[in-house]
Amino acid sequence: MKDQNSNYKIKVEATSNHCPIGEKVGNQMIDQKQIPVISCEGSCIRGEIARQAANMMAKEDGYGRACHGEIISVPDSAMAKWANQAEKIVVIDGCFLHCHGRILKNLFRNDQLAIFDALSYYKKYTDIMDSDDIPEQERLETAKTVLDKVLEEIQETSQSSCTERVETCSSCCTG
Ligand code: SF4
Repeated sequence: MKDQNSNYKIKVEATSNHCPIGEKVGNQMIDQKQIPVISCEGSCIRGEIARQAANMMAKEDGYGRACHGEIISVPDSAMAKWANQAEKIVVIDGCFLHCHGRILKNLFRNDQLAIFDALSYYKKYTDIMDSDDIPEQERLETAKTVLDKVLEEIQETSQSSCTERVETCSSCCTG
């Protein structure tokens, strides 16, 4: 592996297999022109909250839950085709490390990606790993906070002339 400031490549073993339900849903999403929502899949409480927020967002009009595993590692899947042709892809990362956003930046155009840091909206549980340490109701309420903030930022961005604003303002509005 290269030093921490360099990009690096990983090899992914190809497969000729496809997930039947992934193909069905991916094609439906293409037909319905839904915006794919992808979340961090971290195993910790931060990943869990991001995942729950993404699940909630996928229930909103115009959005659908995408499978990042297929998008990244099964490039000829319907899921990957859906993401490729989507105007926008929402990525809710678990924290400031943006593990998934950083991978996806190399697969999609900048103007396609709207990447969010879920932790930045609730700012707690930083000394906790296991999501079971937080009661389910509290996890869901925190995820709803994240969802509301993400939707608010998307709404603000759509009213703004700055199309890159939701990308946590790292590449555009602060410049
Ligand atoms: S973004 Fe944060 S929570 Fe998600 S996998 Fe990376 S380190 Fe874990």
